[in-house]
This record gives sequence, structure tokens and C-alpha cells, in this order.
Amino acid sequence: MKKDKMYKSDIVTVGDYVEYDVNEDKSGVIHKVYERKNYLSRKSPKVKGASYRGERMEQVIAANIDNVVVVTSIKEPIFNNKVLDRFLVAAESSSLPVMIVVNKIDLDDDNEVDLIREIYERIGYDVHAISAKKKIFDDDLKNSLLGKKNLFWGHSGVGKSSILNALFGFDFNTGIISNFTNKGTHTTVTAVMLKIVDNNSLAHDFNSEATYIIDTPGIREIDPYGIKKEDLGHYFVEFRDFIPNCRFNTCTHQHEPGCGVLAAVEEGEIDPLRYDSYLRILETIEEDIFF
Ligand code: GDP
Ligand code: ZN
Repeated sequence: MKKDKMYKSDIVTVGDYVEYDVNEDKSGVIHKVYERKNYLSRKSPKVKGASYRGERMEQVIAANIDNVVVVTSIKEPIFNNKVLDRFLVAAESSSLPVMIVVNKIDLDDDNEVDLIREIYERIGYDVHAISAKKKIFDDDLKNSLLGKKNLFWGHSGVGKSSILNALFGFDFNTGIISNFTNKGTHTTVTAVMLKIVDNNSLAHDFNSEATYIIDTPGIREIDPYGIKKEDLGHYFVEFRDFIPNCRFNTCTHQHEPGCGVLAAVEEGEIDPLRYDSYLRILETIEEDIFF
């Protein structure tokens, strides 16, 4: 069953195009939600004490995304390739364009960014190594955000607010986002979309030419939804060339005989760090997904 045929826990989400009527008291009623070009989702987080049979429900985070910006840092917090790879899987499994930002290169005494570039640029990702603090970044980064709906994701502290401040010249740290976010009655907001106006302020209204930032304050982890064990390899983009070499079409690339992916790891064509990430994510996929 394809993803768009599955039950969705969220009927309307950030980034949806809708038709609505405004009531006299300024509240509104949505009566039509347009089909989504794409969306990012995850397994809804586990609730303490609850028991689960089969896969947890899907939680849609945002829709109609032009660009996903995964923000990491060299240090404080230390770069973690497994966290990055998990997010890349989430983006790839939803066919979302994705770019990688590595922030805090001013703290990169050992030039670790070279290895990160080597791994991820080689397999086709755009990597922007920057320092928001020292204002070191290329124009390409800002240009690739303009006129798009950009979903920013990264662990807290990696510098998302600082990057937006550095690129667009407004102060995210003064709580602009949290002020917007807290206006609603929901306390568990996972994402909020804001328009960059005149390059120095934010607004809620919509204009398709404008630049948008989808901030994801409530999303610490992404557990990709709806992925079967034998499909995970396809979301590691560099595995795709080797999967056709596997003897079995249900191969999960662990220890099966005649595995093309394992052969590529052994020959150095797939980076062992990426392969380790693959194994780690594979362990987290429930056996009993019903499709
Ligand atoms: P967010 O939680 O991802 O929005 O991160 P913030 O933008 O709030 O930044 C977290 C901390 O990292 C703050 O103390 C920033 O001053 C610091 N920081 C942000 N960018 C850089 C950078 O490029 N270099 C260094 N050394 N610190 C940075
Ligand atoms: Zn295989």
C-alpha cells in the first residue's frame, strides 16, 4: 500500500493548502484540504506505559515542503552521523529534497568537516559548512532557500536560530518563534511555518513567491514511518546502485549470501559509517508492520 493511502493521524498540517470560511468571531472553518505534493511524517512518539502492537501511528509534521535543511554542528553538540542519517532516511522515504548544513566550523580544530564532506558530497548531498557565529557562509546557502518553503530540522543547540539570524538579519533568539507558536492553544506544536518579510521580520500570511521557514521545535527525533526492513536500503541513496546485485530481492543486507551491498562495503564503495547507521536503523524497524 502506498503511503498516501494509509491512515493519517493529522487531517490538516503545517503547509497544507486549504479553503476556509471566516466566522464573525474571526475563528475559521476549513472545508477543503488540497492534495499534498509531499509531506514529512514520523511514527508518533511512544507514550510511557502504553503497549504497542504493530507499528505506531503516523504523525504528519508538515506538507508541501520544497527543501529540507538538516542542521548539524561540529561540536557543542558533537557531530553525530547516525542522527543525520536517520533524518536523511526520513527525507528520502518521502522524496523530499534535502541539504546538509554543518555549523560551528569555527570550533573545528581537527578539520572534521573534511570527512563529513567526503562522505556526503560523494553520494550527492549538498553540504554547507558554515559558522553562524563568525558569519562564515556561502551565498549559495541563502540563495537556495529563497522563494521556497524550507523545513529546518536539527537538535537543539546546533544553531538553527543563529543561522537564520545570520542569513536573514532578524533575531530569532528574542522569542519571535515562540511568541508565534504560543498563540495557539496547542501545547504540543511540532512545527510552525513563518514567512520572511522584507528580509528582516516574520509573518503568518501566505504568498507563494515568498521565502518560508518551517521551524520544528517539537521534533527532537524522527522515527521514519512506514518503512519495511527490506526497503530501508533504498533510502540510503548510495546503496541503490548495488541493491540490484543482491541475490535475494528481500535481502536486508546484513549477512545474506550474495549481498551486493555488503560486497560494496567490503570494496570500500560504501562508507562503513553509513553502513553502520543502516544497521542501527534496521534494528529499530518493527518486524510486524502490516501493509
Ligand atoms: P538552536 O537551538 O539550534 O536554535 O541553536 P541556537 O541558535 O540557539 O545556538 C545555540 C548556541 O550555539 C548559542 O549559544 C549560539 O551562540 C551558539 N552558536 C550558534 N552558531 C555558532 C557557531 O557558528 N559557532 C559557535 N562557536 N557557536 C555557535
Ligand atoms: Zn543485500
